[in-house]
Amino acid sequence: MTEFKCDTRSHGNFLYGKKQSVFTVLYRLYNYCSAKKTMEVNGVDYQSWHEVGHAMVCLLLGGEVELIEFVDDENSIGVAKARCDYPPEIKRAIACGGFAAEYLLFQEGYIKMSWREFTDKMFDNAVRDRISFFDGDFAQEDGFWPKEMDKEFGYFAIRQVAPLLKPWFRVMKTVVRELVLKRKLNSQNIHKIIKA
Ligand SMILES: [Zn+2]
Repeated sequence: MTEFKCDTRSHGNFLYGKKQSVFTVLYRLYNYCSAKKTMEVNGVDYQSWHEVGHAMVCLLLGGEVELIEFVDDENSIGVAKARCDYPPEIKRAIACGGFAAEYLLFQEGYIKMSWREFTDKMFDNAVRDRISFFDGDFAQEDGFWPKEMDKEFGYFAIRQVAPLLKPWFRVMKTVVRELVLKRKLNSQNIHKIIKA
């Protein structure tokens, strides 16, 4: 059983220069301009999306989610957590689930900031997730991780995990809404929403 508690600090700037297709840029522009609600980065909704991302990847790949909840303890490092049970071979994908969910929010036009600014935010939120992904803390003296490792994590999240989550975007939206409302969802709650 592993808990994904998600918190702060660190950077990855390898995505800044990432070439994007004309289609991707136009798609983002369309979503940006359409009248969608803006989501505050690291607000309650946003944090929920991150956790639901972990949980959803776990479920989609055959793991089980015991609960997703907000941590009200002031001393707690994370503000929300997902408690997942899964076979070891899907651990890396689950670790990327939060990052991938945040990426989808950006892609769908919910985040009103530049891609460059946003990548910093995503990496800030993925410190513990990267430790889980690589099975260790590889922060260097300056607090940053080696660029190659950031790259490996980021590309895995964007290329492998985000496409897995994308068809479930609407379902995730409902799970997030319920989580924000109830502050805690158990396995039964989650399955009920997914089946609806
Ligand atoms: Zn996370």
